[in-house]
Amino acid sequence: MNEGKKSIAESISREPLLWDRGRVGRSGFSLPKRDVEDTPINEALLGQGPDFPDVSEVDVVRHFTKLSQLNFGVDTGMYPLGSCTMKYNPKINEKQAKLEGFTGAHPLLPCELSQGALEVMAELEEFLLEITGMDAVTLQPAAGAHGELTGMLIMHAYHKFHGSHRTKIIIPDTAHGTNPASAALCGFKTVPVTSGPDGILGADTVAEIMDEETAGIMITNPNTLGLFEEHILKIAEAVHEKGGLVYGDGANMNAIMGIADVGALGIDILHLNLHKTFSTPHGGGGPGSGPVCVMKNLASFLPVPRIITHNGEFALSEDFPLSIGRIHGFYGNFSVMVKALSYILSMGSDLKKASQLAVLNANYIKEKLKDVLHLPFDRPCMHECVFTDRLQQKNKISTLDMAKRLIDYGYHPPTIYFPLVVSGAIMIEPTETESKEEIDNFVEAFKAIAEEAAHSPDLLRQAPTAGRISRLDETEAARHPCLTG
Ligand SMILES: *Cc1c(COP(=O)(O)O)cnc(C)c1O
Repeated sequence: MNEGKKSIAESISREPLLWDRGRVGRSGFSLPKRDVEDTPINEALLGQGPDFPDVSEVDVVRHFTKLSQLNFGVDTGMYPLGSCTMKYNPKINEKQAKLEGFTGAHPLLPCELSQGALEVMAELEEFLLEITGMDAVTLQPAAGAHGELTGMLIMHAYHKFHGSHRTKIIIPDTAHGTNPASAALCGFKTVPVTSGPDGILGADTVAEIMDEETAGIMITNPNTLGLFEEHILKIAEAVHEKGGLVYGDGANMNAIMGIADVGALGIDILHLNLHKTFSTPHGGGGPGSGPVCVMKNLASFLPVPRIITHNGEFALSEDFPLSIGRIHGFYGNFSVMVKALSYILSMGSDLKKASQLAVLNANYIKEKLKDVLHLPFDRPCMHECVFTDRLQQKNKISTLDMAKRLIDYGYHPPTIYFPLVVSGAIMIEPTETESKEEIDNFVEAFKAIAEEAAHSPDLLRQAPTAGRISRLDETEAARHPCLTG
């Protein structure tokens, strides 16, 4: 057992497994003595049960409460994980999703008994179209990457329908990693393009490589550097001119809700991450939802079933002969849709303000920290800002060291070493839900860490020290996870 492994085991062993807490004969409840005879046949039927520990109710409650306290979430503190939009999601939206009528709805019920659920979906579709400025949408995809795959299938179906055989997709170096993966999964060859020194893509760069064998481009806007692709109109023009389509990765919608009309930017297909922007946290391990919006000329390729209105009632129709087919069992992850609709209705026109505050907060952090952290692109950012560890390298302190030290200061670390185009990247996304005081505290913590990097670098190399678990050997932890201590 190496050092790293031992320390994990030691830390976790402070909270024993329920099996170790159990004592033979202990029970979680007591019932009055039964007044009938034992029936031996029952024992026989029961047979040998699973080896559950004998524990009391308080044993169980304390065990799980302690485990829950080992976790860090948006409910515990600021979670500035760039690219993930880990904002606070109001509990009211969870409450709506938990309404009995929704949780009890069965996907196999006929449409006439599911009018309420279908109305929720139809209404959400309308709102998403209004927010994005697109023409038609599917709610089926279960995540952002799944939306990308759906979008690529739609792009492929569109070209096939028009009798054109296209094999390539242009993908800028600032795209999210899932973009090339989704394109490749669809059989497209990805053609990388490099962004300019200002961190955004030039239209000429795209025009140069766009040809009639290229199906289109996948562009993340705002891009993964947190910068708005300002030449998007010209880029879209260059792609359309050669018969291609523009796929917009809209996972960063939190920066532009009610501000940018994506349809008017020349984007033909766009996915959203409801589990980032619309009141479900990203990375929570729970269900997600990555709706795909398209312009009119692509609507007939959307997955089926689609929600239609028929004789004043909502219905599900499979009658779309050009559709790419189903991409999810039933209709997608319904509870995430309920939360999104509840969020949109409760925010109303404040959605725009949410984006404005998200952008303001990121720019505030950028300005406050640029004296202590190297800022590779010193220009106004959108909802997240990207620094590097260049200034700390002279003290042999890396991005990883600083991120780990933030844990000691009570923060979830930002996204690190992403985007890949920035060496030693530290990507901070504060979101709109943090107050100025919280953000100021975070800034002070980072300044203190920069100070430590200069004067007591050893402290950082050992971080985190305040948590239950010290620095892990990340390779070892990934290859040989030690789950039981
Ligand atoms: C998060 C993200 C994705 C992928 O979304 P998942 O739901 O995690 O699959 C794609 N693109 C960008 C820009 C993202 O931030």
